[in-house]
Amino acid sequence: MKNFRYLEETAILKLSDDKCIGCGNCQLVCPHRVFKMVNGKAKIIDYNGCMECGACSKNCQVDAIFVNPDDGCGCAAYIINSWLSKLLGKTKSLCGC
Ligand code: SF4
Ligand code: SF4
Repeated sequence: MKNFRYLEETAILKLSDDKCIGCGNCQLVCPHRVFKMVNGKAKIIDYNGCMECGACSKNCQVDAIFVNPDDGCGCAAYIINSWLSKLLGKTKSLCGC
């Protein structure tokens, strides 16, 4: 999913190392491979790959992940429009929000 990128350094994604029990759910459900299990704990390895879909947070049974798609940062339209713009050869993409 490396072609579906969101705005750099804008995602609201936080992971509590203390709370993580290493179940691996976040790594399993994240469509952008943002997480990797390291020594029995989840680590964020691609922060800017996060599109704030919320899947990781919803599937973390100990609330170790915070992501806030309701604040308007996790805009799938931006990603889709960027992708379409590239396909159509346009240089500028718009969020639409
Ligand atoms: S889903 Fe939560 S508890 Fe499970 S590995 Fe990810 S952060 Fe840790
Ligand atoms: S919010 Fe979605 S894209 Fe971001 S880390 Fe979680 S599952 Fe991956």
